[in-house]
Amino acid sequence: MRIKFWGVRGSVSCAYPDFLEYGGNTSCVELEIQGRTIILDAGTGLPWLGNDLLKRGIRDVYLLMSHFHSDHIGGFNYFKHIYIPEHRVEVHAALNYNGLSVEDLIRKQLAENLHPVQYEHLPSTLDCRGFHPGDAFDLFDGVHVKTHMLTHPASSTCYRIEADGKVLVYATDTEHTPGQTDAGLVEMMTDADLVIYDSTYTEEDLPSKIGWGHSSWNEGVRLCRMAGAKRMAMYHYSPDYNDDQVKSMEDAARAEWDRVFGAKEGMEIVL
Ligand SMILES: [Zn+2]
Ligand SMILES: [Zn+2]
Repeated sequence: MRIKFWGVRGSVSCAYPDFLEYGGNTSCVELEIQGRTIILDAGTGLPWLGNDLLKRGIRDVYLLMSHFHSDHIGGFNYFKHIYIPEHRVEVHAALNYNGLSVEDLIRKQLAENLHPVQYEHLPSTLDCRGFHPGDAFDLFDGVHVKTHMLTHPASSTCYRIEADGKVLVYATDTEHTPGQTDAGLVEMMTDADLVIYDSTYTEEDLPSKIGWGHSSWNEGVRLCRMAGAKRMAMYHYSPDYNDDQVKSMEDAARAEWDRVFGAKEGMEIVL
């Protein structure tokens, strides 16, 4: 299982020089499993991943959406695959928002007031598939996916992806309550080889962000240890933190647990 980070920022992209060491694009992670491409979230990292996939001749991808807040869908309309015939995007997302189907949610991104090209004019194949939070399914032969609903405004989905004897957990946009444990999330993380975790805010800043739906590296490390997870990637940094601030968060996290690291745009990991 090869993993590459194309966007690690939360909330909004930041294109200024003091954000570029960790990266300014929003949520997007590429997985390559058995020669196929799985994409976690369609933030502003997605168009650049798309260009790279076109260079590699990859036409078919699976897109797993955590949710549809703008930092997770903002790159979708600029993903070139959707404008090219004989290219296919299989979109998976939870059916948990106002009774809307996954196709409805994608159509809304391409509405006339937001974008010049509408859904019905796309020449590619968009295969939209919904699941119920908590469902498990085989994405394709040999890749098993488990899901869990996270605590977030309009909710977000955690994915546990099991393939080739390895386990990756993607858990972003989740708010923890100090002193309480999301037991379902710990179960998702059990014995994971890598957990990508919502490390948006420092513990010091979190009290002023209650209800915004985010967490800290400290909580991620606590859950990983409870679950016996092997490594954790800090992810979805607040755009209020520049590289120096994220670096000091990473240093503090590594002093607490040497199995944690700060995800950076362009970083690749093989499990
Ligand atoms: Zn987000
Ligand atoms: Zn969100």
